[in-house]
Amino acid sequence: MAVSDHVDFPTFMEGVKKRNPGQDEFVQAVQEVAEDIFDFIADKEEYHAQQILRRIAEPDRVVSFRVCWEDDAGNIRVQRGWRVQNNNAIGPYKGGIRFHPSVTESVLKFLAFEQTFKNALTGLPMGGGKGGSNFNPKGKSVREIMRFCQSFMTELYRHIGADVDVPAGDIGVGGREIGFMFGQYKRITNEFTGVLTGKGLEWGGSLIRTEATGYGAVYFLANMLAAKGQDLTGKTAVISGSGNVATHAAEKIVQLGGKVLTLSDSGGFIHDPDGITQEKIDWVKAHKTHRRGRIEDYCDEFKGASFTAGKTPWGVPCDVALPCATQNELLGEDARTLVANGCIAVSEGANMPTNLEGVHHFKHAKIMFAPGKAANAGGVAVSGLEMSQNSERRSWKEEELQQMLKDIMAGIHKSCLTYGDQGGGYIDYVKGANIAGFKKVADAMLAFGVV
Ligand code: GLU
Repeated sequence: MAVSDHVDFPTFMEGVKKRNPGQDEFVQAVQEVAEDIFDFIADKEEYHAQQILRRIAEPDRVVSFRVCWEDDAGNIRVQRGWRVQNNNAIGPYKGGIRFHPSVTESVLKFLAFEQTFKNALTGLPMGGGKGGSNFNPKGKSVREIMRFCQSFMTELYRHIGADVDVPAGDIGVGGREIGFMFGQYKRITNEFTGVLTGKGLEWGGSLIRTEATGYGAVYFLANMLAAKGQDLTGKTAVISGSGNVATHAAEKIVQLGGKVLTLSDSGGFIHDPDGITQEKIDWVKAHKTHRRGRIEDYCDEFKGASFTAGKTPWGVPCDVALPCATQNELLGEDARTLVANGCIAVSEGANMPTNLEGVHHFKHAKIMFAPGKAANAGGVAVSGLEMSQNSERRSWKEEELQQMLKDIMAGIHKSCLTYGDQGGGYIDYVKGANIAGFKKVADAMLAFGVV
């Protein structure tokens, strides 16, 4: 037998921990996947012999670089930037850029790892990558953000390309930042290509890209409910976050007849028992993006709502929950509270918002639980459609794109059923998503031999 054939799960995880010291988020993401993959490959010799899981859990490369910029007061500031190119077995590396003080190599490695499976699930030819910086956009002027984005791209441009690696937005990076980065890329290379997605509609962007992640998470939720003969009409929803993903998830819940009770930010959450209507969502969008205000101001604007400082919204009783803020925002005790309060379905709009204990509890309670790599894949899916439109040098109509997004989310749901149906009416969506995503990437890797 070859040296490392058939290591067992604990030995595999020991190795991951040893090779990635202090990278807790990355280890967590690998564990969540490996728990299911070990079962799946138990009788599949080739995946073991070729060390496929071990190879997917080792990024193709991690590029780290210095980003210097000058603030408005003339001080020179130094940040660290990264691009993690995890795997390009099925297409160019693809994944967002995150600007947030919590960004570390571990966070970006976990995100790039997750992205590899998520992108495979969309059915589109995209590999997995992620990038970002510990730059904090909060409180910065627009000129400062522009100078930072330009400096970041001055290094990043040599590592990316329309057929190499195609970044997009993530936390702290929206249309404005993509504009600054695309402008700098174009200036340096003198090329107009689809090197970034999430672009403005006038310069190669796709319709519905902005809405896609939040809408997709709700479409996935609707698919899960439909599999049980239910829908969103009259259901109460608790949502965390108040950015692009959360507000569009809220919008789609309202459109499908549900009632949204909460939104949140890093300061706490608001609870509106009357329901957060479209008009209120529009106010939140404007307040958070244009005015860069706090969610607690909602209570001055709309009477009857209350603000709870420093807490997440999981204690508010609901039928369905959508964590749409950030990683590890829903812990084991929150999962227990949600289930005890009667929550029947959770759809993750953010990446890995539920910690391992929470995931295990949802599985144990056998509620409908859609992991981010399946539920929030709508965003990157429309990014994939943006890439296609750029390659064809044309734009598709909104109705076409809406339908494609719906079809892709239904397709992901179906893939989850293939590997996640446990019988007796229980579908393990975590297992389904992990195996379906893994199998596609793994089979491509087998075809390439040892590279
Ligand atoms: N950052 C988003 C995600 O987590 C989108 C990535 C993209 O569009 O490339 O999937």
